[in-house]
Amino acid sequence: MTMITNHMPTAELQALDAAHHMHPFTHGNQLSAKGARIITRAKGVTLTDSEGHEILDGMGGLWCVNIGYGRKELADVAARQMMELPFYNTFFQTSHVPAIALSAKLAELAPEGFNHVFYAGSGSEANDTNLRMVRTYWAQLGEPERNVVISRKNAYHGSSVGSGSLGGMSGIHAQGGLPIPNIYHIDQPHWYAEGGDSDPEAFGLERARQLEAKIEELGAHRVAAFIAEPVQGAGGVIIPPDSYWPEIQRICDKYGILLIADEVICGFGRTGNWFGSQTYDIRPDIMTIAKGLSSGYAPIGGSLVSDRVAKVINACEFNHGYTYSGHPVSCAVALENLRILEEEKIIERVAHDTGPYLQEKWNSLAEHPMVGETRIIGMMGSLALTPHKASRAKFASEPGTAGYICRERCFANNLVMRHVGDRMIISPPLVISKSEIDTLIERAWISLDQAEKQIR
Ligand code: PLP
Repeated sequence: MTMITNHMPTAELQALDAAHHMHPFTHGNQLSAKGARIITRAKGVTLTDSEGHEILDGMGGLWCVNIGYGRKELADVAARQMMELPFYNTFFQTSHVPAIALSAKLAELAPEGFNHVFYAGSGSEANDTNLRMVRTYWAQLGEPERNVVISRKNAYHGSSVGSGSLGGMSGIHAQGGLPIPNIYHIDQPHWYAEGGDSDPEAFGLERARQLEAKIEELGAHRVAAFIAEPVQGAGGVIIPPDSYWPEIQRICDKYGILLIADEVICGFGRTGNWFGSQTYDIRPDIMTIAKGLSSGYAPIGGSLVSDRVAKVINACEFNHGYTYSGHPVSCAVALENLRILEEEKIIERVAHDTGPYLQEKWNSLAEHPMVGETRIIGMMGSLALTPHKASRAKFASEPGTAGYICRERCFANNLVMRHVGDRMIISPPLVISKSEIDTLIERAWISLDQAEKQIR
């Protein structure tokens, strides 16, 4: 077989890819008809594809490359760790320095009362851990019937059987017999799409109070936990009204149910603090982490576990774990990533410098005739495409058609922006500079113009 390298013609790479590689969240027919976009290199915020295009990555990979691409320090740490100890497990009372060091660092960075971490290989696995951990917590406390977890429609918590069930995405539930029993979903706090004529803050309260109604309906003695992202990411960067989180917190406190904050996207600076829970003043019991933990340089996820929960779980043997729980190379890479985030004050810049700059520029896109609203916090933003601003009308075409057209125009203009239905979203590397932000906004505006001509 010939060597397959970056230097092969794109069409040949695409043909081999379509023939042998099954992609996540991709329609196989489209893959063979059109071929995949093949990324060959990346540096800073810029991707290079097999055709030599230089593309500004407005999505930070998949919301994860917080420190930007091409940081040699992480590669050096990985190489050193691979030579010293490429693998050892953390089962059966065994440990190693990278896992110990990363755990201690996470305990230092996390909000007060979070001194423990259980590792996984990904966010999905970490949420599977959480599902088992909250049920085990209540069983250990003599309440095994408390096994229900409440989540939200259109939430994304991963795509494994457990995490896909915790999520509330209809496309995921439609395949493979999900959700599994004892997981219930309340409505999301998505005012733009579902708020009608209501006041956004009143709507936020109404949506939060659905949690209380669901607890009452099921019986508080059956409810183990509520899980939510501080800001729904994959659902379309849905920033809740200010009234929402305080009311959710009040309800969780009132019924004593555990609160799981899924920080897979919001964690490690995305919202301008180390954790989204800090931005929204949420006091969770468990936080799911992944993505920005290693800036995507190595696969790693985990559950940050509060003292309240850890005390109970540590009092038994939790029969759970993954071969790659606390993988030494991933832990070493994550630790180096945290060092860079901290020493280079990247999160401070998101909070006080480049973040506000991006927010101002992003919000200027609201002047575009096809943009119904812009929303942004830290460095995660969204905008709604609409044929009619004032009424927040939807397009006559199949939902997602306008978003798809806009996304394709962005690619043609060397910008990665993702679409969720007819919402466009960004989540760039947190190191994006002001001039790169200008370029992002210019390309977005041109793409919106071109998409508008194609749609109308
Ligand atoms: N939770 C949230 C909020 C996510 O956005 C994601 C992935 O996008 C996950 C969990 C799943 O993480 P992973 O893809 O690493 O399994």
